Amino acid sequence: MPNAPDLEKLKSVLDGIATRYAGEAERGDVADYIPELADVSLNHFGIAVAPLQGAPLLAGDAEVAFSIQSISKVFGLTVALERVGATLWRRVGREPSGDPFNSIVQLESERGKPRNPFINPGAIVVADVILGNAKPGDPEEPVLDLCRYLAEDPSITVDEAVFQSEVATGHRNRALAYFMQAEGNLEGEVPEVVKSYFRQCSIAMSCRQLAMAGRFLAAGGQGAAADHAAVTPERARRINALMMTCGCYDASGEVAFRIGLPCKSGVGGGILAIAPGIAAIAAWCPGLDDKGNSRLALAAIEELSREMGWSVF
Ligand code: GLN
Repeated sequence: MPNAPDLEKLKSVLDGIATRYAGEAERGDVADYIPELADVSLNHFGIAVAPLQGAPLLAGDAEVAFSIQSISKVFGLTVALERVGATLWRRVGREPSGDPFNSIVQLESERGKPRNPFINPGAIVVADVILGNAKPGDPEEPVLDLCRYLAEDPSITVDEAVFQSEVATGHRNRALAYFMQAEGNLEGEVPEVVKSYFRQCSIAMSCRQLAMAGRFLAAGGQGAAADHAAVTPERARRINALMMTCGCYDASGEVAFRIGLPCKSGVGGGILAIAPGIAAIAAWCPGLDDKGNSRLALAAIEELSREMGWSVF
């Protein structure tokens, strides 16, 4: 459904949302299991929309960088698919988990094969695949490199304080990785694989940068290039399908019901949403709901999708 949005209407919807959400009292709670994230002010709210052509539209704190956390799993998956294609699916599934993002329960009953690439163990396997299939000349941090390329912004970096905070407290992720190693589903050494996973989670981007970085998924893969990650229309469609079914963990069904767009959330409070053929949307407010998704970012994307008629259903 290629469709240039009515930019005037879009701008006024975004401004209305940002004004109302700046004063909203019910904001959820910051993630405090990563200490560095607990220090981010709940008062932030930003939103950006990148239509297929032209500059992104911004409202609120759309230029303030935040920790993208699990949203990096979309870019990690894109790199891994470029490196190994469909063989990736031998090691990670494509089904919603119905469990929290860091749950270890399913891994045991399913012999170390994570349900999907958007829960932590799935993303750790994806990081292992990327490390294990590096070619000479590949960038040292391919996920960061892809984000910079897609957002057309070389200034994007890893937030070192968040990274250190994850290393210091990420015992559960190490447990998931060791468990998968025991089941033969991890090729690299756990400290190295988990480090690479923590670094991608610690990438900091603003809503503007994130919407730009996600735009290739609204554009049937166009905008990604072979030297970074070639994305065919079919691959873009599949990444979107996974975002729709698995992108918000055990709230993915509820998000599809409310918003009707492929979404990927992170515990930094960001959400990337894709309106296929139209635009990529990034919203951010650090307060989370009980499933680990940003309360106001979800509400904002829900409102935007309804106002603009962007649901895929
Ligand atoms: N770095 C976080 C973790 O591994 C990412 C989780 C998330 O954003 N859902 O726990």
